[in-house]
Amino acid sequence: MAFSNDVKIKALVACARCCCICHKFCGIKIECHHIIQEADGGSNSFENCIPLCFDCHADMLSYDDKHPKGTKYRPDELKFHRDGWTSKINAARPADYCDEHRKLDQGLFLRILRRLPWNGSIGFISTNNFAGFSFDCRALLDLHELAACNDDPSWEFIDPTLEIARANLAHHVSRFLGLIGMNTFPTDNPDRNSVPEEWERERPEHFFQVVDEIHEAASRCVDSYKTLLREGRRRLAIESPADEEPTSKPKT
Ligand SMILES: [Zn+2]
Repeated sequence: MAFSNDVKIKALVACARCCCICHKFCGIKIECHHIIQEADGGSNSFENCIPLCFDCHADMLSYDDKHPKGTKYRPDELKFHRDGWTSKINAARPADYCDEHRKLDQGLFLRILRRLPWNGSIGFISTNNFAGFSFDCRALLDLHELAACNDDPSWEFIDPTLEIARANLAHHVSRFLGLIGMNTFPTDNPDRNSVPEEWERERPEHFFQVVDEIHEAASRCVDSYKTLLREGRRRLAIESPADEEPTSKPKT
């Protein structure tokens, strides 16, 4: 048995089609997971349903009790994630959103902008051509520093719209850094990496596919950064320290 359509609709509306664990907006790329598995007596009720993105859902399914690696999500923790997130969404801007909450969100907004300013990594990846040229790895330092806070709850906004924007940025930054980590390698200069030149000669199809994916991921980082900046300025009525947007990025 699976969840009924009624249960799915109620669950997807309650979370605004955002993953209940990582909070990213998923659109159609979302799945309803049983908090307690059916094999363990879990029901198909709304209470037992948690909508998850593909990545978080894959984490649930890949954990192997016989060969434990990492830390398993327990049903109580999943319920806590689901209820915490849906209560944020259902309250839109929560009724109890007060001046203190606004101050906390303003503080976090400024922390993010200090860690990831326009003129740092974001500006760099918005213009850099990763096809056939090496790049200074230190230019991506801001992104690594932001990614290090992805799981820290003190880096979550109380305002749900801003939290969705932050989670989207966090997701795209992780994806971009993952692609860079898998597909670029040190050159003669240890501070500089590149997508290997020999790939371009020997496996051109693969080379251009990789470079396209990197550029696509970079432009998603830049777009989600812009969205967070715009929403933050509007909803928190706060000046950002940098108003200059990077120019558009050359493609291969
Ligand atoms: Zn997720």
